[in-house]
Amino acid sequence: MARRSQGIIITDKYQMRTWARSMRHNSIALVPTMGFLHDGHLSLIQEAHNHAQLVVVSIYVNPSQFAPSEDLSTYPSDFDADIRKLMTVPGGVDVIFHPHNLYDYGVESAMDCAGMANVSCLEESGSGHETWVRVERLEKGMCGRSRPVFFRGVATVVAKLFNIVDPDVALFGKKDYQQWRIIDRMVRDLDFPVKIVGFEIVRDADGLAMSSRNVRLSPIERQKALSINRSLSKAKSAAEQGELNCKSLKNLVVDEIQEAGGELDYAEIVEQKSLEAVEEIKSPVVILIAVWFGKVRLIDNIEINI
Ligand code: AMP
Repeated sequence: MARRSQGIIITDKYQMRTWARSMRHNSIALVPTMGFLHDGHLSLIQEAHNHAQLVVVSIYVNPSQFAPSEDLSTYPSDFDADIRKLMTVPGGVDVIFHPHNLYDYGVESAMDCAGMANVSCLEESGSGHETWVRVERLEKGMCGRSRPVFFRGVATVVAKLFNIVDPDVALFGKKDYQQWRIIDRMVRDLDFPVKIVGFEIVRDADGLAMSSRNVRLSPIERQKALSINRSLSKAKSAAEQGELNCKSLKNLVVDEIQEAGGELDYAEIVEQKSLEAVEEIKSPVVILIAVWFGKVRLIDNIEINI
């Protein structure tokens, strides 16, 4: 087995499970990613060392969370660069789990998905997969409204990864806030023996939340996208200074983003755990937004702990 700083690459799910079982006397942290790693991912992976003895990073662009109209085919990837970046993480990683296809079950009858509503790229490609994890209420709003198959795909692939890697702890970025809450609820509801850790958003120096999709922004769009964090910070300051009406706070966000030329998908102020919309801030909330700049959809959020 290779040294820890380098890690070993496993592409086969059965080998991954065998490795995990052989390491059962150690604690294992899993960091699921879709690759094209940036410093946000690397900080998350570094944090994993504080929670377990061994760190597994999965790199897998999951087709079941993309609708055919979404950006699966253009989702950026550069596995060699990812490996080089992982080697810079203090403490390294123990395994890079890079499966080619997590939904390949050998000879299976393909489903006919013609005419089916809300089909993902996975079903469209004719996989025989038909078992889904749904976190019914938490997945409904925000990103779930705009991307109807998204959270079903995320929860399902994370459940599969948990079954394959059998981690003691798994780390998720709060950048994908709704996703983090959904996975946390799935683990509770289905008794997965995994502790879920939410990790703070890592931003570039100019405030833009790091994202694999940022490379697809033109320089001008990137400049305009700074309005996202600016607007969220403005709303948070206003709330801290006593403006507790969510409609007024939302207007601050919407105005700033629209002025910069962003096309808002949603802006919601919700209770942090239940993700229920609130009208007046009385307990900790989070402002969640998704905005289009050109062809790129960015999400971001800010917690307000009043
Ligand atoms: P992705 O590859 O985009 O699916 O992200 C993999 C993990 O990294 C998810 O848990 C994300 O929430 C997390 N992540 C992505 N970007 C950031 C960021 N800027 N700060 C913190 N975590 C992040």
